[in-house]
Amino acid sequence: MSRTVLVLNSGSSSVKFAVLEPDSGVLIADGIVERIGDEGSVPDHAAAMEAVFESLAADGHRLDDLGLVAVGHRVVHGGPDLYRPTVVDDALIARLKEISPLAPLHNPPAILGIEVARKALPDLPHVAVFDTAFFHDLPQAAATYAIDAELAHTWKVRRYGFHGTSHQYVSEQAAAFLDVPLESLSQIVLHLGNGASVSAIVGGRPVETSMGLTPMEGLVMGTRSGDVDPGVIFYLWREAGMSVEDIETMLNRRSGVRGLGGEIDFRELHRCIESGDSAARLAYDVYIHRLRKYIGAYLAVLGSADVITFTAGVGENDAAVRRDALSGLTAFGVELDEHLNASPGRTARRISPDGAPTTVLVIPTDEELAIARACAGVLRAGLGDG
Ligand code: ADP
Repeated sequence: MSRTVLVLNSGSSSVKFAVLEPDSGVLIADGIVERIGDEGSVPDHAAAMEAVFESLAADGHRLDDLGLVAVGHRVVHGGPDLYRPTVVDDALIARLKEISPLAPLHNPPAILGIEVARKALPDLPHVAVFDTAFFHDLPQAAATYAIDAELAHTWKVRRYGFHGTSHQYVSEQAAAFLDVPLESLSQIVLHLGNGASVSAIVGGRPVETSMGLTPMEGLVMGTRSGDVDPGVIFYLWREAGMSVEDIETMLNRRSGVRGLGGEIDFRELHRCIESGDSAARLAYDVYIHRLRKYIGAYLAVLGSADVITFTAGVGENDAAVRRDALSGLTAFGVELDEHLNASPGRTARRISPDGAPTTVLVIPTDEELAIARACAGVLRAGLGDG
């Protein structure tokens, strides 16, 4: 068995796992352990780790025979100074705990996941891979909020960006698919899943992205509002008697497409719209309107885009969203081939007409593979140093 990496994505109520060969990209096994903390199911993250091993065993994978060389952990927020894939030690855990307030919903369960995995697999190197990493060097003009500079500096308030592993992977895949150097391309990547973000990438380096200090900024998402006037928060706090926590929960969990239309899944949303549900219609329209605003803004940031790529659950599967996001943009060099767009597929594909100035692609993201490769890279570098 060749070298494999176990990739763990530990959230508050679920752990997603995958075992992959980083070199070939072959997926050996994957799955998800859900409902952590729910009564009668998986009580905590230690039990979830056990459940991962049981699931592997049930599929006939003995841990000792998997050829594991590392465990890769997805960590949402790396804060101001963690951005390279980093081998986990006690000092890193301590640093992650310090920056947890920047991502109170995401980082604590990731830390728990790392701690239980280190106990369960103590002989393997564990590597943290940060969702913010790709955007660490965003140009200052894009990374800076126009707020009191000293306060922002003290509290490390900047635009960090998220889904970086996906934006990087997909932009590299786009160049590979087109068989042109990454350095030659101006790209827009639309990562549209339950969380959603856009990035503008020039020559492989990001120059803009829609998420900010936290993953709340930017596009309308499954349950998150994306951009709102900060005044909304103060108004609700003052006048509706809501606490900061109430407002944070509302904006994270009861907003977005579900907050407006009652459904998080776009397949359901379309069904509701077809049956005449006006709230679902409005949710879809608000989602598309925001997406189009960002695409327009990023075309202006870039001047023009060589490639626009859709990825993640909605981007890969929802032809109507792709059509509505890009309709009427022929003047900007952007158009879709209706037939190509409507044809379902599982692999990278072009959906713009032959010869259009901007090539529009659909590329499946693979954050697990990207994390596995990042781990392999760290191990190689480590060997080099030694
Ligand atoms: P996450 O952000 O949780 O990783 P995904 O990228 O897996 O999310 O996207 C999940 C979302 O993708 C679902 O909530 C649903 O809205 C959308 N989706 C998945 N399959 C389809 C499909 N066939 N058609 C339309 N939307 C889909």
